[in-house]
Amino acid sequence: MTELRDLTPHTAIADEQTQRGQRQRRQLRTFLPEMTALERMLAEAPAQVESHVVDHVALDDLQLPIYRIDIGSPRPEAPAVLLVGGVHGLERIGSQVVMAWLEGVLKRLAWDEQLAALLERVHVTVLPILNPGGMYLNQRSNPSGVDLMRNAPITAQDRSAFLLGGQRLSRRLPWYTGDPEQGMEVENQALETVIRELLPGRSFSVALDCHSGFGWQDQIWFPYAYRRRPMRRIASVMALKLIWEQAYPNHDYRFEPQSRHYLTHGDLWDYFYKQINRDNPGVFLPLTLEMGSWRWIRKRPRQLFRLDGLFNPLVPHRHKRVLRTHLTWIDFLLNAAASHRNWLPEQEQEAMLREAAIMHWYRDSI
Ligand SMILES: [Zn+2]
Repeated sequence: MTELRDLTPHTAIADEQTQRGQRQRRQLRTFLPEMTALERMLAEAPAQVESHVVDHVALDDLQLPIYRIDIGSPRPEAPAVLLVGGVHGLERIGSQVVMAWLEGVLKRLAWDEQLAALLERVHVTVLPILNPGGMYLNQRSNPSGVDLMRNAPITAQDRSAFLLGGQRLSRRLPWYTGDPEQGMEVENQALETVIRELLPGRSFSVALDCHSGFGWQDQIWFPYAYRRRPMRRIASVMALKLIWEQAYPNHDYRFEPQSRHYLTHGDLWDYFYKQINRDNPGVFLPLTLEMGSWRWIRKRPRQLFRLDGLFNPLVPHRHKRVLRTHLTWIDFLLNAAASHRNWLPEQEQEAMLREAAIMHWYRDSI
């Protein structure tokens, strides 16, 4: 019998699959179909795509891999785009959006010269399922009950939202922070390993972490979550918002600092933003896509009775629409990263855009 290992350059995938028994494969297909789909997609991916396992998450007798996929320029100074999905296990649509984009790119690599030229100028790293245990269990937190978005060693400066802002009372309640001073959870450590290896030394990098479940509208959130004051790179976010809205005026993402909604402890992207921008001259912008799921519920109130229905579009045509809606935005981020020298503000422009950003977002809080 020909082994999968002999058929694909992606040996990481074959290694994972051979370690699983039949029952485990069935469990994975049933409870984490996104992982099965991802492995199939990667096994067939062209050789210029690299796939690795950053770490494993143990769940009963299963060892669930955290996959990392790399495409594009190997130059350490090339601008980078980091795409993350599945931080909150219940918000499966976040993983699915990232994978829908990835699948299209893997197919286009076979013929699209324009894409190939773009990828010579930019590096893309994808972590489509950061919290495979949470996704398998269909729960927000990881298998230890920790909310990964509240698990970084950073404390809110003002009063955070009660419970929602992160709590240390019990891992049985949502938004449990764990004990970040003792080290972050394994999933977040995997992300930190990737970020520390990937981002330093680049003049520009942007991360997009895909979530769902808050609000009527699709939103792009940026730091901070731990305090209400603007971050140092705020002018760059304003510039990115402007070029996006000029290029795609009929899309309507709402750009906002997370602190406009509620303050939280332990925000992962606050933490990485501070780390990378403190130690490096380049600009790193971590963005979160919050897909507004309340619309999906308004159109189909029955969804309220299903937990996954609060966070995911359950009707097929709506699901397809969500999967295609965000492709333009992700493609845009690649282009914006590759051409960042043409729009990233400097000196005078930066001061002006910072003023504009403060007027736009922070008038009430400063
Ligand atoms: Zn989320």
